[in-house]
Amino acid sequence: MIPVNFRSFRKKLSLYRKIYRSFLTRSEKLPPPGIDKITPIVAAEVWQEVDCLTCANCCKKMTPTFTIKDIKRIAAHFNQTPEAFSAQWLVKDKNKDMVNLRQPCQFLDLTTNMCSIYAIRPEDCAGFPHLTKRKWEEYAYVHKQNIDYCPATFKMVEKLYARMGRL
Ligand code: SF4
Ligand code: SF4
Repeated sequence: MIPVNFRSFRKKLSLYRKIYRSFLTRSEKLPPPGIDKITPIVAAEVWQEVDCLTCANCCKKMTPTFTIKDIKRIAAHFNQTPEAFSAQWLVKDKNKDMVNLRQPCQFLDLTTNMCSIYAIRPEDCAGFPHLTKRKWEEYAYVHKQNIDYCPATFKMVEKLYARMGRL
């Protein structure tokens, strides 16, 4: 695995963001044939190349959604009630989801880039960036948001565009 190079990520993002976003919009409406078969293969390639421990950008610049189950589990870990935990760390967003009040996430150790509650982290964190969570047409809009922050998502879209961008 290669450490994430943010200079190169930002440079590529500034050069290709428009092109990839347009590919994501087009492919959401009209998925290229075979994209749902090839995406897991490409995602596996991405995880051979991207080391999240050298990045943690999602924990620094984005917020997970906390489910009620997440809140109960993490609050219990800190001997707090779910209400006290939520009041201390969370806020309701415009979709009425519970999200972090601040970024970077309070549970990120900024010296190691490691999650201090890794074993009990929110489900959303465990699955992020959800490269193969749903069919392409149902999830391309999320990749479109995530390419701005997540080098793994960017790389997957880059690879898919190289293979299917002109289909
Ligand atoms: S809970 Fe852990 S994995 Fe989730 S955003 Fe915070 S630091 Fe990152
Ligand atoms: S999931 Fe994406 S943003 Fe988060 S650490 Fe991994 S590469 Fe970075």
